[in-house]
Amino acid sequence: MREIVVLECSVCKNRNYTSTIDTRGGRKVEVKKFCRPCRAHVIHKSRKA
Ligand SMILES: [Zn+2]
Repeated sequence: MREIVVLECSVCKNRNYTSTIDTRGGRKVEVKKFCRPCRAHVIHKSRKA
């Protein structure tokens, strides 16, 4: 089963992206994505949508 999560910037806490994760795997996802407010690529962490 897949669950929708939001990806939150670890620096400014802006919620920039949504993604889906496999609930059977690890729930926490960390991805490096571009953040507009930060104007840089930063780690985004998954949060429940
Ligand atoms: Zn940011």
